This record gives sequence, C-alpha cells and structure tokens, in this order.
Amino acid sequence: MSVRGVCLDIAGVLTDSGRLLPGAAEALQALDAAALPWRLLTNTSRRPQTAILAELTSLGLPVQAEQLFAAPRVVADAARARGLRPYLLVHPDIRAEFAGLDCREPNAVVLCDAAEGLDYRSLDQAFALLRAGAPLLAVGLNRYFQGRERLELDVGPFVKALEYAAGMEAEIIGKPGRAMFELACASMGLAAADVAMVGDDVEADVAGAVAAGLQGILVRTGKYRDGDEQRLPPGAVCVDNIAAAVALLV
Ligand SMILES: [Mg+2]
Repeated sequence: MSVRGVCLDIAGVLTDSGRLLPGAAEALQALDAAALPWRLLTNTSRRPQTAILAELTSLGLPVQAEQLFAAPRVVADAARARGLRPYLLVHPDIRAEFAGLDCREPNAVVLCDAAEGLDYRSLDQAFALLRAGAPLLAVGLNRYFQGRERLELDVGPFVKALEYAAGMEAEIIGKPGRAMFELACASMGLAAADVAMVGDDVEADVAGAVAAGLQGILVRTGKYRDGDEQRLPPGAVCVDNIAAAVALLV
C-alpha cells in the first residue's frame, strides 16, 4: 500500500479497555521514523478530548492535541460555524465541548452517545424538533462499542430511530461520515487518496474511510468479530493487528 499519511482509530486499534494493545507504541514510532504524518480519529463521545489526550499520554503514546480528532468536538465546531442553537443529547462528561453555544430555543439536534441520557423524554423532545425541520447532527453511526466485558449499545441505533420517526436523514459528522476524515486529511495537507485509515470497525472506520476516498485497513482486534472481513469495501484489506497494518504502510 502506498500512502503519504495515516489515520488511526484509537479504541480497539491502539488501546483496549484502558490498556495499550501490543505493538501500538512501536507502530506510531515506526510511522514517525518513516516521516509519515498520522492523525487519530475517534467517535468516542463519553469523554472529552482533553481526557482522551491525557489517557493516551499516560499510556505512553506521545499524541499532540492537533493530532487528535474526537467527533464531539468536530460536531461542536460544525454547530458553531453554522450558528446553530442545538438541543444537546450528549453525555454530561462532554457538555463542556459545547461551551459557548446558545442552546435556548433550539433549532438543531446534536446526538452523541449520551448513555442513560437517551431516555424517552429526551428522544421525544429531539423528535419534535426534527419534525419541525431542525437538522440532526450525529457524532457517528456506530451500532455498538467494545465495553469492558461485552459489546455495548452505541449511538447508531438512536440515530436510526430518530430518522425513522421524523422521516429525515441525519448528518453524520464523525465516522463513517466524510467531515472528520476530510478535516484530518486536510490537517496533514494530503488528498484523501494518499491516506490510509486503520480501524477495527468495518463500517465506521473502513467503509466510511473508503467512501470518503481514503484507503482502508481493518484490524482483527477490538470490536472485530469473525466474518467482518466479508463486509469490507472493494480495495480494503484486513490484517491481524496494528503492527501488521503499519508494516503494510512504511
Ligand atoms: Mg474502534
């Protein structure tokens, strides 16, 4: 695979349940040694960008703020740029990412993985706004994430429920939408075709990246399950882990 830059998912690729996966630190070092710029792209929406950076640093991954693209912050930036007043369906731990946004008399809905916050009352409030024509900005479309003991329900099913009820289509800002992939490639000064995305989610990471024009690599770690490679888009490849992925690239 010939690339000039790399995008990497975090959970299930570099880390798992708060620990580094084998070869993760060496993989980033190998990219640096090969002078290949890299960016980390995560849809995680239960923790703020600063906490994600702090955890990576504490695990021994030297990540700079400008190398990390966390979908909730990208959603907040998009809402600010468009002057939206969003109704926030977000986890309490990431509300600070939306600081400065006027959320009175909402004219948009922002949907992240809000965990217990995704109750009937709040979803019904969002539905009413969408029915009235408000746009729905969603952090991602992930069906599930790898929890500590099992796969756990993510934001995607709630996006689909609201789309179905309100008869409209959400704007997916994080993976597999185009917006975060395009921002990450632009931040490296690279065209999408010159960048590979490495992820453990065949839909959000790999199919999303390929649809945005990147090259795709699926790893058999994290949330990967047997048979996921059957759903790879044309041209994408599947390898055992982050070390094998980086070996393809440097
Ligand atoms: Mg992942």
